[in-house]
Amino acid sequence: MLGVVWDDRFLNISFSHPMIRDMSKARIRKFIELARDSLSFVEIKPEQASEEVLLEVHTREYVNKLKEVSKVEHMGFLDSGDTVHYPGIFEDVLLVVGSSLTALERSKFIDQIYVPLGGFHHALPNKAMGFCPVNDVVITVKRLLNNRERVALVDVDAHHGNGVQEMLYKEKVLKINVFAYNGSFFPGTGRLEERGEGEGKGLNYNIGLPLGSGDDIFEDTLSFLDLLEDFDPSYVLVVAGVDGMIDDNLKSLNLTSWSYYSLGRKVAKIQRNLGFNVISYGGGGYGENSYLGMVGFLAGLSGVSSSIVGLKREKTSTDKDIFDEARKRMQALKKS
Ligand SMILES: [Zn+2]
Repeated sequence: MLGVVWDDRFLNISFSHPMIRDMSKARIRKFIELARDSLSFVEIKPEQASEEVLLEVHTREYVNKLKEVSKVEHMGFLDSGDTVHYPGIFEDVLLVVGSSLTALERSKFIDQIYVPLGGFHHALPNKAMGFCPVNDVVITVKRLLNNRERVALVDVDAHHGNGVQEMLYKEKVLKINVFAYNGSFFPGTGRLEERGEGEGKGLNYNIGLPLGSGDDIFEDTLSFLDLLEDFDPSYVLVVAGVDGMIDDNLKSLNLTSWSYYSLGRKVAKIQRNLGFNVISYGGGGYGENSYLGMVGFLAGLSGVSSSIVGLKREKTSTDKDIFDEARKRMQALKKS
């Protein structure tokens, strides 16, 4: 059964740069409209988290700062120019974190849950980064680990989930990250040699695709999800960030909704074999059609035909030199 965490307040929440805030709000609105028309799911009303929950991952100083800027009457930046703050942001942050915790709570009864406004994978313990004021993913993973669950994370987004990697690098969590990488593209982290430490040794996979990679090479990256079979998790968290789409304003990967459909389908196929719970997130997305990637992912995950949701089957193909470079990186990672 598929559940979507939804609150109408989501329509007005965005922590993105002022230039793309409207775009990111429109994505959430178009998503829920199309999802209600084309998919079947139960809507789950989120409960706001308490302030104390933030302290499970973030520092007291940083939480205090979030509270303070929330009282400021004008908009400003939490970091050096990406993540905004605005009046009332603190309540929105608590709603976002509460959405993830509500998903966790309800996952006892619903085996596939999606949080459209979630997956803030850049935030660090003491600072906001990349439109992420808080790290809802790490808060959720840590709770699962405390409950002795076996957790895997699949993070597909134009950007490397640096906050998640940093905080879970030494944890026994399988982490498969697919993102655009050239060493300088935001956030600049995610070298393939970074394979984890301590309990997490060998469990961190950074599949950094060259910018311009299309659906054809993305399909190859899905072979890394076979690692789930051996790891045999009880929970798989999926950040399905749709800012890797070809029309995205942050120009990175050339994916269509087809790739997100394939991602959902692959996760569902392995879920049928292993029987884990899925909690998934909408991640980033700043293009006209990014909502199609979100619905596409859920169609694949919940076993709805791609034709029903109007996805095109025209895959983008990758230039040969970019394709070869991506293959080379994947082979090196598989050998390491
Ligand atoms: Zn992103």
